Amino acid sequence: MTTVNAPKINEYKEATRVERVGAQSHIRGLGLDGDLEPRNISQGMVGQKKARKAAGIILNTIRAGKIAGRSILIAGQPGTGKTAIAMGIAKALGNDIPFTAMAGSEIFSLQMSKTESLTQAFRRSIGVRIKEETEIVEGEVVEIEIDKSATSGAKTGKITLKTTEMETIYDLGAKMIESITKEKISSGDVITIDKVSGRISKLGRSFAKASEFDALGPQTRHVQCPEGEIEKRKEVVHTVTLHEIDVINSRQKGFLDLFSGDTGEIDPEIRDQIDSKVAEWKEEGKADIVPGVLFIDEVHMLDIECFSFLNRALESDKAPIVILATNRGITNIRGTTYKGPHGLPIDLLDRCLIIQTEPYNEAEIRSILEIRCEEEDVEMTEEAKEVLTKIGVDTTLRYSIQLITTANLVAQKRKSNEVDVEDVRRVYSMFIDHVRSTQYLRDHQAEYMFDEYQKQTQKMQ
Ligand code: ATP
Repeated sequence: MTTVNAPKINEYKEATRVERVGAQSHIRGLGLDGDLEPRNISQGMVGQKKARKAAGIILNTIRAGKIAGRSILIAGQPGTGKTAIAMGIAKALGNDIPFTAMAGSEIFSLQMSKTESLTQAFRRSIGVRIKEETEIVEGEVVEIEIDKSATSGAKTGKITLKTTEMETIYDLGAKMIESITKEKISSGDVITIDKVSGRISKLGRSFAKASEFDALGPQTRHVQCPEGEIEKRKEVVHTVTLHEIDVINSRQKGFLDLFSGDTGEIDPEIRDQIDSKVAEWKEEGKADIVPGVLFIDEVHMLDIECFSFLNRALESDKAPIVILATNRGITNIRGTTYKGPHGLPIDLLDRCLIIQTEPYNEAEIRSILEIRCEEEDVEMTEEAKEVLTKIGVDTTLRYSIQLITTANLVAQKRKSNEVDVEDVRRVYSMFIDHVRSTQYLRDHQAEYMFDEYQKQTQKMQ
């Protein structure tokens, strides 16, 4: 491989950030003020102040971009906002710092080894900010001549562009004529040409690329740059991830694989070449490394091989900040017969800064439910909110959140735009929470299938 390509892929990044009204869609940041103090309710975040403040300090470390390879563990009971806090960090970071989220169970795939999955996740979380100096020249369309009478159906034509430096006559292909006609380009229009990308634009709107015209060599004339005419230079910065550069330069893979996400395993040799190329760019001042964030939810689902990989990978100077989350207590470390706090080995835990989340009080549950009602576009009476809050306190926050949309559907069925107490009661009896479900199982254990089978085999013995 002689050249390493790092094309601009901003469009791709935006496409992957489109979100539906998901569980965390109301979270817009960590809700901190300028001094990193958590506001009571802000950016969709409620309560959990100690954890949010700690997350804010981590956020500043990430923004500073200086420190690589730190790991943070967010630990706490289910539904206490661990994922919400990680999402808050991602939102606060914005689009320029890479943030990758995955669940521990995602590494168990038949297409890829566990360590390859983790390596890809690590490299997705490291950005390379590439700086390019580009030169914009301004010019004018001197003449456009289009022959519409061509018998073949394909129109032909010529366009003369005069910039501050040269006057060039280009041959126009059918496609070019189409874009020129569509953008209503005519003689006398002032256009700009980006000399690096070759893009030709009118009023900032790109309509063609110089290379797509068929330039008639002999008819290009260099003209004197008249004094006072505009010539601008600007720096274009774009951020791509190491993984994106890997995929684009991989022999079997290509740019399109980034869209499908099906990138398969990547040759380690390619990665080595890319690492040295990026180091070269860094040396020449053309690029900066931006350590981003890798969030691994349900980290207890990883096994001992993955934990050992993490220990080693975190030592690398190209490691992102790794945020782990778990709701487990002291439990089995996968792949071993040992138990560990949160299902993690002590040596990995020792590398982590631990943020603890705590259960919510009644007022906080109510505020979260109110935010979710707004997010899901559901009108609810005060009394219904009270009942729903009570359900949240007695069962779980997540269960009560799930009743919002279902109660709204029931309200709509009785042709009401507002959810009332009766709708909440209705769905509460229709869909049971895990406590009632467990109790029901305990009470009716004998009627279930495998229990019957067990009894029969016991009899036979
Ligand atoms: P688990 O351990 O089960 O994965 P978790 O701790 O990651 O749970 P979340 O998924 O973050 O919990 O929280 C459950 C729901 O409650 C989500 O919809 C989340 O957005 C919301 N939520 C939790 N905490 C907060 C908070 N402090 N502010 C606003 N919304 C919250």
